[in-house]
Amino acid sequence: MSHRSPQPTEDPPKKGILFCPECGHESAITGDWIVHEKPARDVYECPVCSMTILNRRRFVPVHC
Ligand SMILES: [Zn+2]
Repeated sequence: MSHRSPQPTEDPPKKGILFCPECGHESAITGDWIVHEKPARDVYECPVCSMTILNRRRFVPVHC
């Protein structure tokens, strides 16, 4: 009887894919999300359930 080491079955994280925890909607970060561009951040909203799923801080250059 040989010992078989378990193979990792987790999928590699999909780059650039956002996932709504509320309704399960999934789309690319450049997909159909409703993006509110604020001065300091981008707010991503689900187009299905309007849940805010991501607040992405933007690096805004400081103007003197
Ligand atoms: Zn949703």
